[in-house]
Amino acid sequence: MAEVMLPNAALRTLLLAVEEVMGDKGTSAMLNAAGLQRFVGNYPPDNMNDEVPISDYAAVVKAIEDFYGPRGAKAFMLRIGRASFDYTIQEQPAILGLAGVALKLLPMNLKVKTTLGSFAKGMTDTLHEPCHLDDAGDAWLIIKDECGTCHGRTTDKPMCHTTTGALQQALKWASGQDFDVVETDCRAAGASTCTWRIGKEPRG
Ligand SMILES: [Zn+2]
Repeated sequence: MAEVMLPNAALRTLLLAVEEVMGDKGTSAMLNAAGLQRFVGNYPPDNMNDEVPISDYAAVVKAIEDFYGPRGAKAFMLRIGRASFDYTIQEQPAILGLAGVALKLLPMNLKVKTTLGSFAKGMTDTLHEPCHLDDAGDAWLIIKDECGTCHGRTTDKPMCHTTTGALQQALKWASGQDFDVVETDCRAAGASTCTWRIGKEPRG
């Protein structure tokens, strides 16, 4: 089976977010340490052409994790995920299905539902990572059948913190509020999907 290819902008926005959090020297050191020299000062172009192998995207995520070590990585990955959402909204909002989505006049619950639904559609249509939104009654579920963050990985607990951060920031962007976002299942940890549980009400 041919490898899933992600748009150039997906890896570009991740690397820009890494640079914001780690600085350009830190980013180069991290890429060098992981044998990913080919990306140093050489980010994919800002376009939606599907030219990034999903394994390259996953290799960059693993490189960040390895650089910080297992205990330090999560907080940084969440920050990188939040920053990557901001770059995505600025540069290529279509990646997350959020180009031209009108939220302003919607009530809070519809802002959240519309944002998560758009996020799932963008993941599916643009990132080629099948994703859907489910209503679990007291929470929303974002469910991914393929995941560039943990592609090819094996871990003992959920590890897709950059996506968790991106979801947190998407809801903050949409509503001005903070929501609880927890990855409950992860393909790297043996589940068939990567699944996030998202509170329906803002964090009190
Ligand atoms: Zn994952």
